[in-house]
Amino acid sequence: MQDDRTERDFSVRSEEEQQAFLQETWCDHCQEANLGMKNPREYLYKGVVFIEGECKRCGNVVLTELTEDDF
Ligand SMILES: [Zn+2]
Repeated sequence: MQDDRTERDFSVRSEEEQQAFLQETWCDHCQEANLGMKNPREYLYKGVVFIEGECKRCGNVVLTELTEDDF
């Protein structure tokens, strides 16, 4: 099956913005906010931009969905 994600370059964001995204997370596994993520990847999927990384506490995938204002 074709993966219709479009990779975006997270590193072109400003340092401040990157730090904010890396800190402001929600982890479904920990059920806790703002634990932070590592290894961020950014992509566009079905018209929505996601930042995906690993929870700093448990290592599970955390996803941040961006609203249009954040683009
Ligand atoms: Zn977690």
